[in-house]
Amino acid sequence: QQAKHEQTFLYCYSSGLDEQHLRQLHILEQLQQAVARDELTLLLQPKIDCRSGRTIGAELLLRWHNQQLGFVGPDEFIPLAEQSGLIKRLTRWVCERAVELLEQLPVDSEHFSLSVNLSAVDLLSDEILALIADLEVQRPQLNRNLVLEVTESAIVSDPDNAIARLNWLRNKGYGVSIDDYGTGYSSLAQMRQLPVTELKIDRAFVQPLADSAVDQSIVRSTIQLAHELGLYVVAEGVEDEPSWRWLQQQGCDELQGFYFSKPISAIDFAQRLQGEAHA
Ligand code: C2E
Ligand code: MG
Ligand code: MG
Ligand code: MG
Repeated sequence: QQAKHEQTFLYCYSSGLDEQHLRQLHILEQLQQAVARDELTLLLQPKIDCRSGRTIGAELLLRWHNQQLGFVGPDEFIPLAEQSGLIKRLTRWVCERAVELLEQLPVDSEHFSLSVNLSAVDLLSDEILALIADLEVQRPQLNRNLVLEVTESAIVSDPDNAIARLNWLRNKGYGVSIDDYGTGYSSLAQMRQLPVTELKIDRAFVQPLADSAVDQSIVRSTIQLAHELGLYVVAEGVEDEPSWRWLQQQGCDELQGFYFSKPISAIDFAQRLQGEAHA
């Protein structure tokens, strides 16, 4: 009886793995063509000034719809794109769209920035330098309006290499944000050594803020220390008004979260900006 159970378990386990593996291969195969077939879109999640509650930018988030696979979420296809190197093509596409959006959106370009997510793979290759140089041909002052988000894990995989490219970006005047801060293993003391301008506190600490004293302590002390280090502080995953008010009291600089807006299309985002301008 026991042996039979084990056999069944092993069978389910391995066939499960196969299915998952097949899906990954399918995704990779389809993802190769995603740019050429025009299957990618970007959503914009508003970035909110914590004091005024006004929209001061947006984070660009990739969406992919494929004929065979339907919608595939970024949490599923981004890691595969990273492993295969395809991510560099996606990053180029996103950054080119960012430049187009900066031209199209009804914004005051002195006080507006778009954030783009970079992967470890992007940071470990010179292609990112060539990409930025290409974009600057089109928009020489791009550094005023583009923030690059990188995760701690993207840096720790090969710190010297990653830091060299972050330095290059910083020296060119780009904002660099540490995304999902607090989920990696780096201390603020280590962050201090990094050429970054912004720290983005992970939503795992922000979502429960309204009724978690522990998370309040973590977020409060992170904001304080980050400010002492001269970093701009963003909280992601703000889902209710009490959390916003609390973050305001703590002097947090910028917010993102479903309380203000989910990621939306460029058209809806433009409407939001126009609505605020006339409010
Ligand atoms: P991220 O960069 O940390 O982006 C924030 C994620 O949190 C987004 O998920 C967003 O929809 C979600 N979010 C924002 N506010 C809230 C909130 O209040 N509550 C909750 N529950 N969630 C919230 P999304 O769009 O599914 O993206 C997931 C991750 O995929 C991103 O995390 C990023 O790491 C990656 N990703 C997305 N687009 C790109 C891209 O163009 N390039 C790269 N390299 N990665 C990307
Ligand atoms: Mg991000
Ligand atoms: Mg994040
Ligand atoms: Mg995240």
